[in-house]
Amino acid sequence: MKERIMRFMQGRYGVDPFCKFLLVAGLVVVFLSAFLGNSAVGMIFYLLGWVLIIYCYFRMFSRNVSKRYAENQAFLAKTYRIRSFFQKQKNIWKQRRVYHIYTCPNCKQKIRIPRGKGKIEIRCPKCGTTFIKKS
Ligand SMILES: [Zn+2]
Repeated sequence: MKERIMRFMQGRYGVDPFCKFLLVAGLVVVFLSAFLGNSAVGMIFYLLGWVLIIYCYFRMFSRNVSKRYAENQAFLAKTYRIRSFFQKQKNIWKQRRVYHIYTCPNCKQKIRIPRGKGKIEIRCPKCGTTFIKKS
């Protein structure tokens, strides 16, 4: 069975970030359509959601790899700013676990201190003010 799937997928494009985005967006839109009921907007949402999902699968099984690749590149270029924003938030969150960010009471300079060092005296690198904090 696994071999048959592999043979089927040979020469086909497969999954990429754009594909995942289409699938998730499609599922969300279909999910939302359930709340809109039998209204015209609900129907449009329902159809739109399925179009996105089908488009995702169409791309996955497509043999026109170069065209799909170009689509994905265009998608990544268009979403670059929003993706880098989320990447940044993720990094900040990661750092929060290892470091504590303190603000200098004098000049508002942000100072990064490793966590778990107990009570320490922090010296602001910008204005030289010292203050005591628990890290
Ligand atoms: Zn300072």
